[in-house]
Amino acid sequence: MSVNSHTSTSDGTSQPGPQTGGDEYDVVVLGAGSGGYACALRSAQLGMRVALVESDKVGGTCLHWGCIPTKAMLHAAEVADAATEGSRVGIRLQSDGVDLPAVHAFKDAVVNRLFRGLTGLITGAGITVVEGTGRLTGPNTVTVTTAGTKTPATTPEARSLTGRYVVLATGSVPRTLPQVPIGGPVMTSDELLRLERIPQRVVVLGGGVIGVEFASVLTSFGARVTIVEALPRLVPGEDEAISKALDRAFRKRGMTIRTGARVTGVEPAGDAVRIHLAEGEPVEADLLLVAVGRGPRTEGLGYAEHGVQLDRGFVVTDERCRTAVPGVYAVGDIVPGLQLAHRGFAQGIFVAEDLAGLEPIPLQERSIPRVTYCDPEIASVGLSEAQAREQYPDVITNEYNLGGNGRSLILGTTGFVKVVARKDGPVVGIHMIGTRIGEQIGEAQLIVGWEATPADVAQHIHAHPTQNEALGEAHLALAGKPLHSHA
Ligand code: NAD
Repeated sequence: MSVNSHTSTSDGTSQPGPQTGGDEYDVVVLGAGSGGYACALRSAQLGMRVALVESDKVGGTCLHWGCIPTKAMLHAAEVADAATEGSRVGIRLQSDGVDLPAVHAFKDAVVNRLFRGLTGLITGAGITVVEGTGRLTGPNTVTVTTAGTKTPATTPEARSLTGRYVVLATGSVPRTLPQVPIGGPVMTSDELLRLERIPQRVVVLGGGVIGVEFASVLTSFGARVTIVEALPRLVPGEDEAISKALDRAFRKRGMTIRTGARVTGVEPAGDAVRIHLAEGEPVEADLLLVAVGRGPRTEGLGYAEHGVQLDRGFVVTDERCRTAVPGVYAVGDIVPGLQLAHRGFAQGIFVAEDLAGLEPIPLQERSIPRVTYCDPEIASVGLSEAQAREQYPDVITNEYNLGGNGRSLILGTTGFVKVVARKDGPVVGIHMIGTRIGEQIGEAQLIVGWEATPADVAQHIHAHPTQNEALGEAHLALAGKPLHSHA
């Protein structure tokens, strides 16, 4: 594929577009994932001339390899569970099994529809999309070469784009381990999204967000799943109470959980793989998913050579997303912090507004909401109890058990809403676990973001019967007037 400028059409295809005024722009954005395209769209809305460079498809990891396809698979998993759990509510259902190609077709249809919508938005905004691999070749220059190749930047095929500002948004890739090479039955989430049949025995290496989401899907699809996590608990970034509840729920679903376990190596075992752990017997699996984090995609892109400061591969920025090079900004997964699409969107919008002189307020990292879509779901915002106790001397908490919440009983879920607050002060963290509890994150983030006190929240009426009531009940209890809970 040669490097070309094109205008994306609403059906997702590319067509040669008119060049308007050479290759000089107000903003050149390198990478069209969540952070990059949000920055491009907002910059265009604010009247700037924008080039958006992408080597694959606009939408990036979130749309094509992450958030959207995985959540489509998790929804298919929920439907599979409904078929097997129908008898709990008196509905006899029979499942003929999981048709994985059809699941992929469903997932791909969702992705394609969003992709078409996004390309339409980008076209409508008048953004110049440049297909190819871009590298920083000067403080305000990005050179784009034939996509996916190692063509040197100086070949005739190279095209240089100059911008008053350059925004780096090249995202992340799955991390791997030297003792666990990828190939055959050993895969990352990228390969798993194209899986052709459901394996009987699965080992998931890493009990973080990706690990527990895929462990959940594969269990619902009928695989026997073992999670191997190096740290002492699953989802170690969450409040400890959440990790305990998830561990219990996953074991109840039939998963094997091995925490504090380290993989020393793998070897082929026929079509399967044998996984050696530092302690205990090796484990055999038909599929080994490596989900040990995602690393920044910053290597070989000219960043360090042109003065952009890196720390273990991540781009160092200040709170206004400025790198060490004047005029060069960075957003999304390449900037240290939570690797979440919505953080990327917010940073992209922030940078566009900053460049336009609107003087936006920097992102508040502490009130970025987090949702993990396994079953049971996890939703959290703000400080865990342990983090709050490190910072404040006067921490109080309330854990409202979903056992007292009518809607949760109907859904057949256990779990809780835990609120962490300062005595006579604001709520600093909310941690929730339970089927569908992710939908409650909106109110939780406003409470933490606006520094509401439990009494502020308690005066608002929560609709009955919803799971949202559980959030209200926890705040009522902390405000000293519990209704359906013990004081
Ligand atoms: P993660 O950091 O959430 O989890 C990786 C886990 O692997 C950690 O618990 C870590 O202790 C463990 N680990 C590391 N090395 C290990 C080893 N050698 N042996 C055993 N365990 C080991 O990373 P992830 O799950 O790969 O996800 C990557 C990023 O993508 C995360 O930042 C996550 O926030 C994001 N993501 C978000 C969502 C969501 O918001 N729902 C979904 C998927 C991914």
